[in-house]
Amino acid sequence: MSEHVPGHDANCIFCKIIAKQIPSKVVYEDEQVYAFHDINPWAPVHFLLIPKVHIPSLAQVGGEHAALMGHMMALVPQLALQEGCNPYPDGGYRLVTNTGAEGGQEVHHLHFHVMGGPRPWLRG
Ligand code: C5P
Repeated sequence: MSEHVPGHDANCIFCKIIAKQIPSKVVYEDEQVYAFHDINPWAPVHFLLIPKVHIPSLAQVGGEHAALMGHMMALVPQLALQEGCNPYPDGGYRLVTNTGAEGGQEVHHLHFHVMGGPRPWLRG
């Protein structure tokens, strides 16, 4: 069943995932954010953490988003361990946000890739 989400962009695939119009494998959800497994994982652990409000990329993030960004950053270590990344410093993970065409961004809804697990797995 789909859900109404404030700040929803009807043309955005990640907004559709948040609204449950497209299925995803959920990692975490609260009022502000949603996290789900990447459908094309680059690493043994690879999930995406996204804000529920439609922000196209990191390029549109400003001071008004400071609390939301802080919330997301604080969730990364918690969710990484929950999803099976090994603890720092021998384990750890990589946090990536592709921004714009030259940054390799394909989906224009801000998302943080969290990737980890035993190496080698890095692409590029
Ligand atoms: O950073 P970038 O925009 O290139 O990454 C988008 C990511 O969204 C890709 O890793 C892709 O596999 C993922 N994706 C997904 N589920 C979808 C569509 C895209 O996990 N339905």
